[in-house]
Amino acid sequence: SALTVGELADKIGRNASEIIKLLFMMGNMVTINSTLDDETIELVCMEFNVEVHKEIIIEESDFEEQMDVEEDASLLTERPPVITIMGHVDHGKTTLLDTIRKAHVTEGEFGGITQHIGAYQVSVKGKKVTFLDTPGHEAFTAMRARGAKVTDVVIIVVAADDGVMPQTKEAIDHAKAAGVPVIVAVNKIDKAEANIDRIMSEMSDNGLMPEEWGGNTIFTKISAKVGTGVPELLETILVLSEVEDFRANPNKMASGTVIEAKLDKGRGPVATLLIQNGTLHAGDAVVVGTSFGRVRKMVDDHGRELKQAGPSSPVEIIGLNSVPVAGDIFKAFDSEKKARQIAETRLNKRIEQERSVSSALTLDDLARQIEEGDIQEINVIVKADVQGSAEAVKASLERIDIAGVKVNVIRSTAGAITESDIMLASASNAVIYGFNVRPNASVRKKAEEEGIDIRLHNIIYKAIEEMEAAMKGMLAPVY
Ligand code: GDP
Repeated sequence: SALTVGELADKIGRNASEIIKLLFMMGNMVTINSTLDDETIELVCMEFNVEVHKEIIIEESDFEEQMDVEEDASLLTERPPVITIMGHVDHGKTTLLDTIRKAHVTEGEFGGITQHIGAYQVSVKGKKVTFLDTPGHEAFTAMRARGAKVTDVVIIVVAADDGVMPQTKEAIDHAKAAGVPVIVAVNKIDKAEANIDRIMSEMSDNGLMPEEWGGNTIFTKISAKVGTGVPELLETILVLSEVEDFRANPNKMASGTVIEAKLDKGRGPVATLLIQNGTLHAGDAVVVGTSFGRVRKMVDDHGRELKQAGPSSPVEIIGLNSVPVAGDIFKAFDSEKKARQIAETRLNKRIEQERSVSSALTLDDLARQIEEGDIQEINVIVKADVQGSAEAVKASLERIDIAGVKVNVIRSTAGAITESDIMLASASNAVIYGFNVRPNASVRKKAEEEGIDIRLHNIIYKAIEEMEAAMKGMLAPVY
């Protein structure tokens, strides 16, 4: 049912004037008492980063605070659970993901080429289960940091021949913070050194007491390598899912989250989307973060082309105008014009937020400026061919600390260096680092005009060395 501008403002904790201004900018004149249709409500929610999920509006900053909007349970149907596997390095996350995937290729899929798209779906006793195939909690944390809630259940893998390690504890913390149910998988039970009791006791010390000891955490004992216990683990997931009763409405325009995105030399921007509500169709207009476009082609994790995909499906799409970021929320619209408008306002807003002081900075005069005490922070924009490298470069650069001067990465994304990067660099006095990406001629020209330094590298430590040298005033002159 419809809401007025005032009512919506209350629900999402914004001023009515902000909504009126936003809609005005999109060419829609309203007053505080105007009634908004569903589509406009969704559009406003998207603008303010409020996710409309399961017919419930969830504020990005506070997922706990859920407010019902036209909750109509009769529209919701069962959907597959979405699982993330976490745990300490070498405890067997990748092996488990591989074993599950190999063991559950259904007949029709047999022989199909599996593709890494960042998530996959298997069929267990006729029920589908979706796995996010990016082990480690960096991806999970990055998504959560952006407010995305993508996982229904976390499996924490602990090696029985090792024990609870720092990343095991981190995984526990992340799962707790996200408020999602946990299944503990005690792994490597095939090994002679395996000591299951020790793992159960250490996990209990960390607040996860096994059911068989009177606690309420489900423990499964597996060998990811041999396959022992994996069917039981999958069945446990099904039982838990039935209890949790995950639902969505397949009969509406799709919305969800970006799992992975990259720039493909031949195909352009490619994004893996997890559809969390609604159904996505080939040809739909979509806004993905600040990108937009049409779903030109949609494939599953076997590379098979799909005409449509429902809730909890991971799909890879092409057709976007730029590369989005993992954790970005996407939404399908019935008109491309609307999608474009929303993407543009979001982009302008993002640039405005990122913008600060002006005047160009080059690595050459960096040391002098540091010495003169003119700067305490060096702004950097990182662009790379894949999001993973962008994150890695960002992390390495931000660790540099020379004479108290730090590197502040104001943007790190996958994709070519664009005019928007130059504009942001110019606005915030930043240096641009490109990894396995190059600016085209017009972007280079723009950079020259604005006096922006673009540094191109394909080895991370070389870039770090160069930055450190520049900060110490030892940058080798370029002839
Ligand atoms: P990840 O870092 O958590 O993804 O761990 P991997 O899946 O890469 O596994 C690390 C190592 O442990 C690899 O050499 C695996 O073959 C081995 N491994 C994983 N699961 C098992 C298991 O159940 N039993 C045994 N014996 N080795 C395992």
